[in-house]
Amino acid sequence: MPFLVLFFLCFSSIHNHQYLHNLHVPHGGSDPGKVSTSGIEEKNVNLAIARYLQDYLIAQDYTVFLTRDTDCGLYDENVSNKKRSDLNNRIKFFTEKNADLVISIHQNSYPDQTQHGAQTFYYTGNDNSKALAENIQESLLSIDSTNKRKAKANDSYYLLKHCPSPAVIVECGFLSNPEETERLTDSNYQKNLSYAISIGVCRYMNK
Ligand SMILES: [Zn+2]
Repeated sequence: MPFLVLFFLCFSSIHNHQYLHNLHVPHGGSDPGKVSTSGIEEKNVNLAIARYLQDYLIAQDYTVFLTRDTDCGLYDENVSNKKRSDLNNRIKFFTEKNADLVISIHQNSYPDQTQHGAQTFYYTGNDNSKALAENIQESLLSIDSTNKRKAKANDSYYLLKHCPSPAVIVECGFLSNPEETERLTDSNYQKNLSYAISIGVCRYMNK
């Protein structure tokens, strides 16, 4: 019953407190992320989805920060390891903003082109990260009846390990799957994904 849930969430977040969310928009600039066989770059899909998600969360009266709103990396220009510099600056950003939670939007890739479906990852042993991931995953399954994936623990992703607040990584789909790539670049599907993620976030925040 999404409408009831939405109404309730709206009410409670306006009257209790304003939550801060950080939306992590990975890759950008010289780092395209995953690239589909048709040349679709992950960094652009991530940003499109994050912008819609930001709109949906703002509509729920949450304060949202994007780590990037343009095609740029957060790395320092004069360092040899741009990837590490980028990640470190993102962690610094999360710490400075003191967010209640961090959502990192990615696209997946796998040698087997039939792999498909969104999947949410949480930090092993972190109950808040796990609860957030499970709520988001459950909501994501409602927009794709073919997706049987479950929220999954991970103890090695740099962002999950070093983020000061509960964090999740949402792999929205596989750029290695041509059919899914087509959907991932469709603005209506991007909106559906973002809306589903926002519902998962709202459910988590009100538990
Ligand atoms: Zn990525």
